Amino acid sequence: MTATVAEVTDQEIARRLTSAEVSNLSVARALGVPWGRVDEVRRRLGLATYRRGRRVPETTWQEAVRRRVREVPGGHADWTGSYHPNGTPILSWRGRAQTAYQAVFRLHYRRPPQDNISHSPECDRERCVAGEHLEDRVLREQRRSREAGGVR
Ligand SMILES: [Zn+2]
Repeated sequence: MTATVAEVTDQEIARRLTSAEVSNLSVARALGVPWGRVDEVRRRLGLATYRRGRRVPETTWQEAVRRRVREVPGGHADWTGSYHPNGTPILSWRGRAQTAYQAVFRLHYRRPPQDNISHSPECDRERCVAGEHLEDRVLREQRRSREAGGVR
């Protein structure tokens, strides 16, 4: 039996739509289905409509963070997103802004930071956003206790 248009499932359409910067038309052409069908699936999934020249927003904040972190040699990472005029890397996502340090910390350690975030002593790169180079109060206290020979 030969494949027909009807055999392209909604799941196949959805899978292609979930990658960013994809237009209904390109998916329709790739799968050989009508544009309206793709649009219908996009609406059902609640995905933003593609607009030429405008990136489709990431579906999760985690994805938004990952796409803005660029690893560099030495275990460091640079922020490719926006910066506050004072130089702080900023994650702007769905109309909300937080520092990239807060977002990366939360993603890396899977918990919100306690108090302010600073760079660990082994990190000498300005504005580094490598998760393992960020410390909140809890991590600072743990490190200081280790450094003080605080083996219980
Ligand atoms: Zn670093």
